[in-house]
Amino acid sequence: MSDTATREEQRHLPADLPEHIQHYIDGELVDSVDGGTFEVLDPVSNETYLRAAAGKKADIDLAVAAARRAFTDGPWPWMLPRERSRVLHRIADLVESQDARLAELESFDSGLPITQALGQARRAAENFRFFADLVVAQADDTYKVPGRQINYVNRKPIGVAGLITPWNTPFMLESWKLGPALATGNTVVLKPAEFTPLSASLWAGIFEEAGLPQGVFNLVNGLGEEAGDALVKHPDVPLISFTGESRTGELIFANAAPYLKGLSMELGGKSPAVVFADADLEAAINATVFGVFSLNGERCTAGSRILVQREVYDEFVERYAAQAERVVVGYPHDERTEVGALVHPEHFDKVMSYVEIGRTEGRLVAGGGRPEGFETGNFVAPTVFADVPPDARIFQEEIFGPVVAITPFDTEEEALELANGVRYGLAAYIWTNDLRRAHTFAQSVEAGMVWLNSNNVRDLRTPFGGVKASGLGHEGGYRSIDFYTDQQAVHITLGAAHNPIFGKADR
Ligand code: NAD
Repeated sequence: MSDTATREEQRHLPADLPEHIQHYIDGELVDSVDGGTFEVLDPVSNETYLRAAAGKKADIDLAVAAARRAFTDGPWPWMLPRERSRVLHRIADLVESQDARLAELESFDSGLPITQALGQARRAAENFRFFADLVVAQADDTYKVPGRQINYVNRKPIGVAGLITPWNTPFMLESWKLGPALATGNTVVLKPAEFTPLSASLWAGIFEEAGLPQGVFNLVNGLGEEAGDALVKHPDVPLISFTGESRTGELIFANAAPYLKGLSMELGGKSPAVVFADADLEAAINATVFGVFSLNGERCTAGSRILVQREVYDEFVERYAAQAERVVVGYPHDERTEVGALVHPEHFDKVMSYVEIGRTEGRLVAGGGRPEGFETGNFVAPTVFADVPPDARIFQEEIFGPVVAITPFDTEEEALELANGVRYGLAAYIWTNDLRRAHTFAQSVEAGMVWLNSNNVRDLRTPFGGVKASGLGHEGGYRSIDFYTDQQAVHITLGAAHNPIFGKADR
């Protein structure tokens, strides 16, 4: 994009943008009961480009009632897994067939670089396909018991699942919950993030075209403390699957406690990437630059603390800073862009405040503010602080932007202590060519997911989730199926009953 590009060219307004987004309840697009709306900004200009219906308790009540009816009246929960699977495959086909449009809208709404948004749209289709296949492949548990008895496990959908999602890669993360919730026969109410409601507004059309029965999928837009809170506190919603900040997770945990709801929580992170002196330094630098700056650094599993062994520390910092300076910051719709615009001015201000804090806590070696040529919009240059002490706020707190802290260590024990010395425990990345060290470190590091000499690539069957303040429970593969189903044990006697007899003894 040249410097002379007009403001409108810089924004690259997608064609046919809606000006108003509604809820989707019981198969109908509707406004809020009280007519309320909230504004949605695009991250390049920070101008309001649409208004979305602001759902509150009354709207959640209607959506939950519709989902509840669809659950009790059927047919969705009673359909064969194979029949539901066909619908899910059609959903995946439809997502795939409009991946370019989805990526364009997502990139415009969230500031994510277009090439990365395209990857996320394709991953969303894959999520549906994966769970469509998994529910068909799943064997039923049946056990023969002595005395001609059989026990079997009746896997039942639980009811109305409340799905609450964040603004980073919103469409993909919604699919990660919708796929298993629907595949197992539940009905749902989705409350997408208020910063990025645009891509979620496509679900209704996709589901209708795929043949999902009316009322099975419902969507209420709105603020977390209004629509989200009402969903969490609704007595007819037995399950809440939440992805978002740890402090919101704490609140939801407390609000759901009186109802003893099933909770799945994917929360924040401050994941360490540990680079030992014997590592392939080139590979480690490439992976750790990608690991914190891809998806604008707005990635829960970002390796945002890099711990580097003293012998290679100076070389690592110098090469890392040089590579971070070369990361291409640009307009989200430009295919050359590697880091786009942060999602919202509030989030931009938060990230920039950490950049200022970092200046007093560490040594700035790359970035440090707005990139040159981007005087407006939520653009932040990839920023690297070296020599960051472990008690620094930029070492301890999740920044969720393109900012990384590098800290030296001497021994394996010290590396482990530093890695575990934060409240989070989502992911850890370990770079070493010593097999013993890699595996012992993986055993002791407090992280739900560990990548050894690799970066963020995972099969959908493996568990996804964190420990400590990074989450509760795991999703992925059969773990998602377990979360969205009750496992009722049914015990039957087939022949004559041989029960012990009480109360017939002679006195
Ligand atoms: P957030 O917690 O502010 O919001 C997430 C969702 O919760 C939004 O839909 C919001 O409206 C809703 N919400 C807010 N307050 C609520 C309340 N009181 N009751 C019910 N719902 C409420 O998070 P965010 O800023 O949208 O997302 C970024 C965070 O998400 C980061 O911390 C990131 O690490 C985390 N995240 C984690 C994972 C993971 O898998 N562990 C994945 C992506 C993002």
